[in-house]
Amino acid sequence: MTDQTTTIAEIKKHIQDFSDARGWRKDQNAKDLVMALSVEAAELAEIFMWLHSDHADSVKANAEEYRHLKEELADVFWYICRLCEHFDVDLAKAVEDKTAINARKYPAEG
Ligand SMILES: [Mg+2]
Repeated sequence: MTDQTTTIAEIKKHIQDFSDARGWRKDQNAKDLVMALSVEAAELAEIFMWLHSDHADSVKANAEEYRHLKEELADVFWYICRLCEHFDVDLAKAVEDKTAINARKYPAEG
């Protein structure tokens, strides 16, 4: 899978199939999913916790840190997809709608 060849719907299906094969979806509720998302976001933040702001971009130059960054980004996206499925949210439409709200709130200059 790559961003160029995979739709969000395909990723959601991939995650659903993986979760169903392990019996996870039937036992996880919205609270569990939000807690998991929060923990994964914290794991992402932990990568940068003691880095000076000037060195935050250096994560990409370290193969192990970069691998860890990609894993935590995937974990965060995983639970976003699970929550979208749980609440029947079309993520692309939600992003489009929120972008319109943000455009009104923060108009581009010039
Ligand atoms: Mg994680």
